[in-house]
Amino acid sequence: MFAMTMNNIQTKQNTCIGEEAPCVMACPIRQDARDYVQLIARGLFKEAYRLVRERNTLPASCGRICTHPCETKCRRNSTDKPIAIAWLKRFLSDNYSENIYTRPEQTYPERIAIIGAGPAGLAAANDLALMGYSCTIFESNPHPGGMLRMGVPTYRLPRNAIDQDVEFIRQLGVEIKYNTTLGKDVTFDSLKKEGYAAIFIGVGLLDSRNLPIEGAEYDGVLKGISFLREVNTTGTAEIGKNVLVIGGGAVAMDCARTALRLKPEKVSVACLESRNEMPTTDFEIEEAVHEGVILYNSVGPKRILGEHGRATGLETLRVKYVFDEQKRFHPAFYEGSESVIEADTIILAIGQTSNLSFLINQEEIEVSRGATIVVDPNTFETSMPGIYAGGDIVLGRGTLTDGLAQGKKAAISIHNALRNENRNDEKWANKPEVPKLADARVPLIKKEQKQDMPMLSLSKRLHSFDEVELGFSHEVAVREAQRCMNCGAGAFVDEHLCVGCITCVRVCPFDVPEFRNGEITAYIGGDCQSCGLCIVECPAKAISFKTPLEDSGRERLKALFQDTPVQKTKPLIVNFYCQYGSPVAGSFEGKSNAVIEKHVKRIGVLGLGKVEPSLYLNALEWGADGVLITACKEDECHFCAEYEWIKKRSEYVSGFLNEIGMDARIFQTHFVSSQTDNAFVDIAVQMVKDIEQINLVKSA
Ligand code: SF4
Ligand code: SF4
Repeated sequence: MFAMTMNNIQTKQNTCIGEEAPCVMACPIRQDARDYVQLIARGLFKEAYRLVRERNTLPASCGRICTHPCETKCRRNSTDKPIAIAWLKRFLSDNYSENIYTRPEQTYPERIAIIGAGPAGLAAANDLALMGYSCTIFESNPHPGGMLRMGVPTYRLPRNAIDQDVEFIRQLGVEIKYNTTLGKDVTFDSLKKEGYAAIFIGVGLLDSRNLPIEGAEYDGVLKGISFLREVNTTGTAEIGKNVLVIGGGAVAMDCARTALRLKPEKVSVACLESRNEMPTTDFEIEEAVHEGVILYNSVGPKRILGEHGRATGLETLRVKYVFDEQKRFHPAFYEGSESVIEADTIILAIGQTSNLSFLINQEEIEVSRGATIVVDPNTFETSMPGIYAGGDIVLGRGTLTDGLAQGKKAAISIHNALRNENRNDEKWANKPEVPKLADARVPLIKKEQKQDMPMLSLSKRLHSFDEVELGFSHEVAVREAQRCMNCGAGAFVDEHLCVGCITCVRVCPFDVPEFRNGEITAYIGGDCQSCGLCIVECPAKAISFKTPLEDSGRERLKALFQDTPVQKTKPLIVNFYCQYGSPVAGSFEGKSNAVIEKHVKRIGVLGLGKVEPSLYLNALEWGADGVLITACKEDECHFCAEYEWIKKRSEYVSGFLNEIGMDARIFQTHFVSSQTDNAFVDIAVQMVKDIEQINLVKSA
């Protein structure tokens, strides 16, 4: 457990200098996606979870329903498919979730009232509590989560994921008063009288947008948000046999898939957009279709048809275009293209709107024409001093991470106002982004299959609201994380040390180092893949990694020899192995091996090209009886070109040991397909026997 407060945010070192990875810049909360993905790739799961939670108030929820703009911007899109960043976050919260904070020692006397236990309110409460403020959340529902709980179906977001996230916020001392509605149970005045120094409004968009067409008043016409809320709170809702959802976004997909689970005969979705224009993720659309939802794309609602006061269908018009030349939402239709989609239940899911009834008699708070609360964009303060707002109620729409970002920013602003400070969070500073992968580089980078999410079978899905996505195993998570290119955190050249020898240009498998515009020192751009070859080969030692997270094994080797039981192990073999060949190196084909466990200490590195040959000699010098290198086979190398270098460096070390009269068997290099299969076990066990024999001969 480590204590960290928001004060640390200002001083915490940026892990990288220069350009930032696009996945980080795309995230509304600037989550350190690259770094936690890299930690997973190295098997450092607890550290990865902590990094996630430092920035993200709701990792378990976010790992499931975030719209992941990071993946849209991921540079792996240029070679094959983006890294499954959100699913990796979910993997961490499923398996490594813990309270990483202790309550801050320094506290302030002011109390803060927060309206709404949704993403914005929870984020504001979390960060204010970490800064030392006493926070109370007033939530109108009997449970936390706001629209996450009321609006998102449980098959996408099980409620224990929300509860898990909220519990850690509660452990910071945040109090949540449920069934307490602003404007009814409490008012701004009553909260001020109770002594709250600032109030943050973080309520969601609680109503569905109306569709002003003929027939919208018929029985059987439901509003999407009300429908979802009913099913989410009671487990069911009254629908007919033939359900039609109007809308093409995430809420429409949620309504359709929720309706399917109530077992009507048919569920369809009709939307203005073509399949490619639909404003939700491909994954959501594909899953809806896979479950049996029928899509009617490029149709607009003309009127709802009905008989005896009950809806019987939707008359539609074919859409000419949805957006005009200025890319504004301005749908146009083909005249005379009417057709009818029959339905006895029509669910309107064309967007959400706010319910500002809590502002009645609060004229001082300025509201926009779109029924959102107007705030100062820098301070999040409303037109009423001391009252702040953020999230959907300000944005008029928004994702989970947009809500979190607004809550976090407002928390800093409230602190600044109360303490007359000018604190800011450097994570939101504008930074240059690593540019798109150069076209010429794409064929040099190995394509790596994106890992699939294991899914609940179709037959089980449609009979329950059980979670559909089952989560990554450790092995799958590591494989997926190892596809990441560590963008922006690769090698850089110290121009004061570079001697212009062009070694880096010569060794780089990806043609990254260059001498720009006649400069006499090398430059390494953002396309560096972090293989480390140039770092080891540079004769001037002018190259290093930008990130301290990169690890060539040196510190772990040192730590190994500080461990007394390890020093006493005889024989002791240090095995340097490539982690790309070994997603999870704990067991061997599911079993442990007593000989390896006792005699072989393993140091995994993401690519052995990063390891200086001197480290192998250090291992022998510091007490190892043997050094075993297990690298990937030539055609299986993640970096495509490390085989020759590892072979060459091994030959150099072997030659040196031979010259000083050492037995060749104490230093062995093998190229293997797996670091955990029986072939590896045979190699390691045989080497233990070899060394035992050498030691016997020596002692005879
Ligand atoms: S490859 Fe990795 S670092 Fe690069 S954008 Fe994708 S997730 Fe981020
Ligand atoms: S670390 Fe590897 S990919 Fe990056 S510049 Fe050096 S040799 Fe090229």
